[in-house]
Amino acid sequence: MSPFSHHPPAHTPEPRRAEPGAWPGFEKALAAVNQDLAATLPDHPPLVLTVDPAHGSDEPDRLYVALPDGRRQGNPVHPQDTTTNSAEPEPTDPATLLTLVAEAAQETVMELSWQVWPVCPAHKLGTHVRSDAEAVTWWCPGGTETGGHHASQVGELSGTLPGK
Ligand SMILES: [Zn+2]
Repeated sequence: MSPFSHHPPAHTPEPRRAEPGAWPGFEKALAAVNQDLAATLPDHPPLVLTVDPAHGSDEPDRLYVALPDGRRQGNPVHPQDTTTNSAEPEPTDPATLLTLVAEAAQETVMELSWQVWPVCPAHKLGTHVRSDAEAVTWWCPGGTETGGHHASQVGELSGTLPGK
């Protein structure tokens, strides 16, 4: 047996849970998305923010929306452009934050739990994130007369469920 076989890979930084309070804008956005998750998939664990540490001095840390065990899919929510090495602060616009987090959350939930999420309660169709001047919403393609509709604002899906 090689004497090196028990050595971990050299200098591979592990993804870690984001420090609480380090990304207040992303945390607030994720809290809203987790409300939608809890309302529609009660058995699904809440999502968390994780950080992939930089692999070199010319790369930034990358922030992801992940399952509690660190698994995730899709692109980092921050920074979006990982070719720059500047330590970018998080976006300040709440709609931008909510859009980034909702899209990343959807990708992680759908890919790792193998189900469409979130689903429009009225049409049972998968929705996607749409951002306009008024709100960030889960957009449903159903309701063909109108060419789709806002199923819910992101974070307020529980109010659209039957019996609510
Ligand atoms: Zn619908």
